Amino acid sequence: MSEERMLEGETANYEALRDNAINLIRSQVPTGKGPAHCIECGDDMPKERRDHGFVLCVDCKTLEERP
Ligand SMILES: [Zn+2]
Repeated sequence: MSEERMLEGETANYEALRDNAINLIRSQVPTGKGPAHCIECGDDMPKERRDHGFVLCVDCKTLEERP
């Protein structure tokens, strides 16, 4: 799932909300590993990424890092 981001303010809000969600998810994972599913699109997370504590799949991470 990918949505066009609209306004700068909304983007900041969205990122703050997502940071909260990430912290919440991390606090629920006692091992410190990432969730079983990407928090953006819900795809399965590869074990290697979970082991690093990532919460986004490769696709979502790539989109996020795009300027
Ligand atoms: Zn994803």
